[in-house]
Amino acid sequence: MRYSRLFVPTLRDDPADAEVVSHKLLLRAGFIRRVTSGVYDYLPTGLRVLRKIEAVVREEMDRAGAQELLMPMVQPSELWEKSGRMEKYGPELLRFKDRHGHESCLGPTHEEVICDLVSRELRSYKQLPMNLYQIQGKFRDEIRPRFGLMRGREFVMKDAYSFHADGASLTAEYKNMFDTYCRIFTRLGLKFRPVEADTGSIGGNNSHEFHVLAESGEDLIAHCTACEYAANVEKAESGRNLPQCVVADITEVKTPNVSSAEDVSAFLSVDIALLVKTLIYRAVGGERDGEVVAACVRGDDQLQEIKLAHAIGADSVEMATDAEIEAIGGVTGFVGPKGLGCKVLMDQSLTGALGLVAGANRRDTHLTGMDVERDLDAVEFCDLRETRAGDKCKRCDGTMELSRGIEVGHVFELGTRYAEPMEVMFQDHNGKRAVATMGCYGIGVSRLMAAIVEQCNDDAGIAWPADLAPFQVSLVTMGKSDEVNEASEMIYRQLQDSGIDVLWDDRNERPGVKFKDAELIGLPLQIVIGDRGLADGVAEIGLRKGERKSVPLADTVSEAA
Ligand code: ATP
Ligand code: MG
Ligand code: MG
Ligand code: MG
Repeated sequence: MRYSRLFVPTLRDDPADAEVVSHKLLLRAGFIRRVTSGVYDYLPTGLRVLRKIEAVVREEMDRAGAQELLMPMVQPSELWEKSGRMEKYGPELLRFKDRHGHESCLGPTHEEVICDLVSRELRSYKQLPMNLYQIQGKFRDEIRPRFGLMRGREFVMKDAYSFHADGASLTAEYKNMFDTYCRIFTRLGLKFRPVEADTGSIGGNNSHEFHVLAESGEDLIAHCTACEYAANVEKAESGRNLPQCVVADITEVKTPNVSSAEDVSAFLSVDIALLVKTLIYRAVGGERDGEVVAACVRGDDQLQEIKLAHAIGADSVEMATDAEIEAIGGVTGFVGPKGLGCKVLMDQSLTGALGLVAGANRRDTHLTGMDVERDLDAVEFCDLRETRAGDKCKRCDGTMELSRGIEVGHVFELGTRYAEPMEVMFQDHNGKRAVATMGCYGIGVSRLMAAIVEQCNDDAGIAWPADLAPFQVSLVTMGKSDEVNEASEMIYRQLQDSGIDVLWDDRNERPGVKFKDAELIGLPLQIVIGDRGLADGVAEIGLRKGERKSVPLADTVSEAA
C-alpha cells in the first residue's frame, strides 16, 4: 500500500473525549472513528488489525476441532421467550418490530439461535460432541458505552457453543477451550490471567474469565501470591469467612423507598426483619433511628456489597471488624433512601430455623424494584486494594492480591440451562431421548484490539506485536530524486512479492513527519531509502524506535523477512 493513497486520518493531538490510552491512540492513529455512542467505523488500518486478531482466534479454534458457521444478527423474539430470557435479559437487549409487527431483537449472544438450529438437526449421540463457533457482530445496548472499542454497543465477538451427550464430554471440551484460550492470548502477546468467575445472567455451573492485566481495566481480580488460585472479586473467596457459614438471601423485598428501620420491617416478614435489623445494627454498632445506614461485612463479596450500598444511596459504608464478624456469624445488609438490599450470612442452624435458601450469592437477587445494572454502573469503583489485598487465600497459606483486568474471554459449562427449554434432544446409546449438555465460550475480538493497545504502547504511539500490525514494514523514501523513487519502488515490489505487508511512505513530506506517523501507527520495522545511502548502494533497516543499520540494497528484503 502506498501511504499517499491510504485512508488513514491521523491526528496530531489526543482527542478530548478519550480517557484511556487505547481509545486515544486508536483514534489518533486513524484506526477507528465514532459513528454514534458505542458504535465505530473500522478504517482500513483498523480493519487489517481486527482481521489479524480474528485470524489467530480462527486458527486456534479450528485447531481445537471447532467448526465455524455464521448466524444472523437479527433474532426472532420467540426464541428468547422460549429460553425464558426475554424478560431476564433486561434493557441491553435491543428489541424492535418489523413492518409486519413481528417482534425481533439484535443478538447480544447466540445461545437461543444455535439451540434452535441444533435442536432441528440433531438426531443421535453419534453426532456428538460438536463445537460450533462464529466471529460476528453483537449488539448490546450498554448503559455506559465507553473507552472506545473496550465497551461498545456494537462489537465483534467470537462465540462458540459445544453440545455433548454427557457431563464428562462437556468437562473435556471445557478444558480444551480453556487451553485454547490460553494459546490464543499467548499468541496475541498479552499478559493475561484466567480467573474463576460467577456464571451471572447466562446461567450454568463452572465458569472462568480471562483478563488482560491493565490499570485501565474495569474489573478487579484477586489472585494468590503463593498458589494458582485467582478469581474475580465477585467470586473470590478470601478465606476470611467463617467456615461453617452458608450464604442466604432475602430476595423479594419490594421496597422502592425505605429509609428507616420501621420501613424495613413493614416489607419483611416479622421474624426475618427482626433478625436482619438486629444483625445490621450490631454490625454497625448500635441502633441509628431514622438515619441512612449501610453495614457491610468483609466477606467474599466485598466489592459487590459496597457497590450495592452506594447504588441504593447509602451515605456511608461501614466495614465491620474481623472480631465483629466472628461475633455475629456474618451479615451484610443495607438500608438507603433508594431501597433496601440485604443478604445474610449466618450459621447453618439459623438458616435452617428461618428456612432461607442457600447459594444466592448473585447479583440480581439483592434488590427489587430497581434497575441493578443501571444503578451499579453509575457507581464509581471504591478503592478496595487496601482493605482486600492481604486477605488469606482460601486454598493455601498465601495472601491475596488485587489487580485490574480487562475481560477478554469467558467460558461457561452451561449444562442443560438452554438445551432443556430449547429442546435440544438426541437419542442416546440406549435409544432413549435425552437433553444435550452444553458449554459456551466467548472472546471479545474488538475489545482485544483495545486491550492489546493498552499493553503495547509508548510515548510515540502503538507498538503492535509484529504479527498484528496493519503493515509489517514501513518503507520510507527520503528525498525527491528519481533514483530514490525508483529504488523505493523496486524494494516495495520485492517486499510485496515476498508476501510482506508493506506501507510505502511515498508522500511528499519531511522525513520527521513520516517517521512520526510510522511510529504512531505502530509499524514494527522501518526501511529507509535515501540519496546518501543509495550512493553507497545501501538502505537502512531497523525496528520501530530502534537503531537502524545499513544493508546492501540487494539484501534488504531478505533482511526484512
Ligand atoms: P462485561 O463484564 O465487560 O460487560 P460480559 O461479561 O457482559 O462483559 P460476556 O457475556 O461474557 O460479556 O461476553 C463475552 C465477551 O464479549 C466478554 O468476555 C468481552 O470480552 C466481550 N464483550 C462483552 N461486552 C462487550 C462490549 N460491550 N464491548 C466489547 N466487548 C464486549
Ligand atoms: Mg456485560
Ligand atoms: Mg463480565
Ligand atoms: Mg462475561
